[in-house]
Parts: sequence; C-alpha cells; structure tokens
Amino acid sequence: MRLLLVEDDVMVASGIKLGLSGAGYAVDWVGSAERALQAVAADTFDAAIIDIGLPNTDGLELTRQLRQGGHTLPVMILTARDALQDRVQGLDMGADDYMVKPFELPELLARLRALLRRSQAATSSTLHFGPLTLDMALRQAQANGQLIELGPREWTVMEYLMLQTPKPAAKDKILAALTGWDKEITANAVEVYISRLRGKLEPHGIALRSIRGFGYRLEMVPSSASARADAQA
Ligand code: CA
Repeated sequence: MRLLLVEDDVMVASGIKLGLSGAGYAVDWVGSAERALQAVAADTFDAAIIDIGLPNTDGLELTRQLRQGGHTLPVMILTARDALQDRVQGLDMGADDYMVKPFELPELLARLRALLRRSQAATSSTLHFGPLTLDMALRQAQANGQLIELGPREWTVMEYLMLQTPKPAAKDKILAALTGWDKEITANAVEVYISRLRGKLEPHGIALRSIRGFGYRLEMVPSSASARADAQA
C-alpha cells in the first residue's frame, strides 16, 4: 500500500511517516498542495493524508482539486484546530474522513485501515496471474491453494509486478515503489527482493524473467518444468 502524506510541518510529518512505515505502508511525503498534485499525476496512491494547514493552497482546496481532477483515492484530512466548520467543509470537498490533531497513531492507523477496506471493497481487490492471487484487502498471496508468505517489501515489489503484467516492470520504478520504505535503498536491493520472490514463485510454475537493461516480467514457465515442481512438492 502506498500512501501520500501532505503536511508542511516537518516534525509532524516525520512522526506520521515513521508510524505509517512501521505499520507496513510505503509513504511518500510532500509539503505542499502543488507538490501533491504533481505526485498524484505521476504515481498511483492507495490513499492520501492531507493536512488542512498548508502554505499557499490549503488542504481543503487540494481535496477539492483532486476530486475535480477525477482522483478517487480515499482522502483523510488532518486539522489542527477543533473547528467543526473545517471538518464539515472537508467532507463536503470530498474527503472521506478526518482526524483532529493532536491524535494518537493507533487511531490514525485504525481509521486508515477502515478507509482502505471501504475503498477496496468498492473496487476490485484481487490481482491474478496464472495460479497466483494477491488479495489486496487481506494483503495475502496464494497460489494453488497455498499461502505464500511475503515480507512487506516483497509485497510491494510483487504488487507492482502484478499491476504491470503483462508488461515488464521497470527496475527503476520498482525501486521508486520501495523508496517509501528506505531513503538509502539501492538498485541492488531490488535484485535481492526479486531473487527472494523467485524462490517463492518458482515452485508454482511462475518465473520472474529479467529483461536486460529494463526490468522484470512475470511469466509462466513451460508446463514440463512446473509439472516437475509439482512432483517434487
Ligand atoms: Ca500544516
């Protein structure tokens, strides 16, 4: 799950980002409405957390512009003031929920989970490739009736590969999907996660083919190889 956090206060933003990352979300943080609009134009996010108090364009106006631009991602607004008017206005502008600052992280996480569940129930929440199924709401991968255990970063890479298929996924885009996790992440890390995923997918007859100079593509391996894997299982 990839979240966009829009908050100009560095201290508040780092706290929220840390908490969300710790809970398994990839978080992109921007400090203004202008940067937020650029981010949603360039990338896909599962939800946005938007502070009302932003420089220039405020969070209410940003929410309005997102909806006007056809972006349907769930929006949680943050307001520092206990101002009923802000909250009402936020919901009117198309926000899905709000939190009054200061708030406790567990409450933000719980409300966010509910928001994501609702939005995913409304859209298709399952991705398929051959025998492989990713249930986005449950964050569960399965193939041939068996659960495949994926770590949070492996899940991020797997999700990105599935969303791109049948096209190959560019290595630098996979890296970008992972940078919400670690600022210092390198291209080598992508190879590490790809290699781990290969180990988990190959028993199910699924290969991650390297496309030289570009990235990786999900492919079914020829049936004789998968039959062999079945026989060994
Ligand atoms: Ca602020």
